[in-house]
Amino acid sequence: MRFSKLFIPTTKETPNDATLPSHQYLVRGGFVAQTGAGIYDFMPLGKIVLEKIKAIVKNEMDNAGANEVQLGFVTPLSLWEESGRANTMGNALLKFKDRRNSDFVLSPTNEEAVVNMVKNRVNSYKDLPLNLYQINTKFRDEARPRFGLMRGREFLMKDAYSFHSNEDDLVREFNLMEETYKKIYTKLGLNFRVVQADSGAIGGSGSKEFHVLASSGEDTIVVCDSCNYAANIEAAIRKVKEYNFENATLEKIETPNCKTIEDVANFLKVSKEQTVKAVIKKAIFEDKTKIVVFFIRGCDELEEIKALNSVNSLELIDANEDEIKEAGLVAGYCGFVNLDATFVVDNELKDSFGLVCGANEENYHFINADLRTLKDVKYFDLVAVQEGDICNCCGGTLSYTKGIEAGHIFQLGTKYSSAMNANFLDENGKAKPFIMGCYGVGVSRLVAAVIEQNHDEKGCIWTKATAPFMVDIIVSNSKKEEEAKIGETIYNKLKTSNVDVILDDRINARFGFKMGDFELLGFPYAVVIGKKLEEGFVEIVDRKTLEKTDVKVEEVVSKILNLVK
Ligand code: ATP
Ligand code: MG
Repeated sequence: MRFSKLFIPTTKETPNDATLPSHQYLVRGGFVAQTGAGIYDFMPLGKIVLEKIKAIVKNEMDNAGANEVQLGFVTPLSLWEESGRANTMGNALLKFKDRRNSDFVLSPTNEEAVVNMVKNRVNSYKDLPLNLYQINTKFRDEARPRFGLMRGREFLMKDAYSFHSNEDDLVREFNLMEETYKKIYTKLGLNFRVVQADSGAIGGSGSKEFHVLASSGEDTIVVCDSCNYAANIEAAIRKVKEYNFENATLEKIETPNCKTIEDVANFLKVSKEQTVKAVIKKAIFEDKTKIVVFFIRGCDELEEIKALNSVNSLELIDANEDEIKEAGLVAGYCGFVNLDATFVVDNELKDSFGLVCGANEENYHFINADLRTLKDVKYFDLVAVQEGDICNCCGGTLSYTKGIEAGHIFQLGTKYSSAMNANFLDENGKAKPFIMGCYGVGVSRLVAAVIEQNHDEKGCIWTKATAPFMVDIIVSNSKKEEEAKIGETIYNKLKTSNVDVILDDRINARFGFKMGDFELLGFPYAVVIGKKLEEGFVEIVDRKTLEKTDVKVEEVVSKILNLVK
């Protein structure tokens, strides 16, 4: 391809809201163009990258035996009513009406549609297993679309859904998908990590995420320094921390102006570990809201996703002062003794005694509070693992790293098949709901993730598998006949050797400008044809290191062929 013929509108302007390198460079490099909040067009270079990623994903899914399908971007709302998600998806689900007043949604994911496709078409266990996938547009009306392609509203996802007659077979396919995903991210040239993930409201044990490691990642990953344990902080666990305090009689103590853990621990001269922190939240359910108190050790932090799962609500938001008062609670002095409210206590506090907690009265705390005196306490894992905590698998030390969620695989079970009455006949002729798995890859997010992991202060550095072109032949001065001619020769030779090559033949662009574009666009190599041509040399530039090597004109093609292998 010739630069002069390709629409590559590079610019020096960075969008105001672009904080991430991938967002800045993809816009500045003319890969993508924003048309609305969280909505992006792909221009030619962006489209080439997207297609390269899609091809790798498709190839590996096909190799794993999955069948490609295409589900409608628009699905009737009735399907979502059948599954129950019409109400539980919240505002992310964009609903609209057609001219006949019928209701539809833009697909944010396609469990309903695929169950509808398989239902009544697959009837026997003999026709299972089945794994159907597509690479298709999704729409989620995200509350905060940002970071360019990273969190769009319209985006491209590979989604796959598998159907099984028993749990063992689901686990087999889940493991196969894990291996398939590892191949995909390896082929893309990414540094990634497979992590234990939150299974959310869907439940079940099997949920893993694939994170591209990058300092800008939105997710915090907990990793062990000595074994393979890695988990999203939303699901991470640690070795239980045990404390033993003296067992004495409950006593109410005046603690003036001790609203924080710090204050009360200092005032009573106890460790934070001995205090109990109350986090008051408003839980939003399908049909109501409710104030819930979460009790954790004073030294711990609440992990919101765990808290959400503990009460099975759609969302948790901070309760404001009025709401706290209305619920009869005293902010800063909330404790579990004689408390008239819904509450959940962290697992690590189970049956603990000798604790300090609020007395539900301004300026008072209890000492020697004992959880064993309470009946029917709901215990749940609520706390966020902290750096330095001990690994539950091996005793190693846990620390944090940042990741971009680029894929997620899930053992769904029968949630959707049961709700939508999608059954098969088992060996005994008995009707049973399909056992399902689902598997997503964020295809358009990956375009940004590659750049988050691979860039410098000058621009993009594509991996070999994702680069729109492998080699940029830069003719320093296209008006010089000799330079232009050698450029054409090298270009043609590389093209016939099946190298993705672009020839910067722009007549009116200066060398510095062409070089700047090369650095911004991030092609892995450039061949510069300039002054040294008189002595029979051209230059190979490695985009990653920006190292320059002089090579003889006759040798440049074979050198490049070696590099791009
Ligand atoms: P996140 O936690 O980042 O919001 P999610 O867990 O809601 O993502 P999934 O439902 O697991 O997303 O979707 C599968 C994959 O689709 C994700 O792993 C991610 O790579 C991608 N994806 C999800 N939401 C977006 C988005 N708004 N923009 C781009 N890609 C997305
Ligand atoms: Mg996910």
